[in-house]
Amino acid sequence: MANSTLGNSITNTTGSVRFLCPKCNEQEIVRSRNERETVAKYTCVKCGFIGPN
Ligand SMILES: [Zn+2]
Repeated sequence: MANSTLGNSITNTTGSVRFLCPKCNEQEIVRSRNERETVAKYTCVKCGFIGPN
């Protein structure tokens, strides 16, 4: 819970979160609860950033 400064917000969908790409800060990334629990990787389609963080 250390990255609230990035503007994380809880969506209406239970357990899912969405946030802006930490690298380019432009592309919104949405992660479901399951994806977070399995630490699934995500890729920013805008800048190519890959990561769980
Ligand atoms: Zn990006």
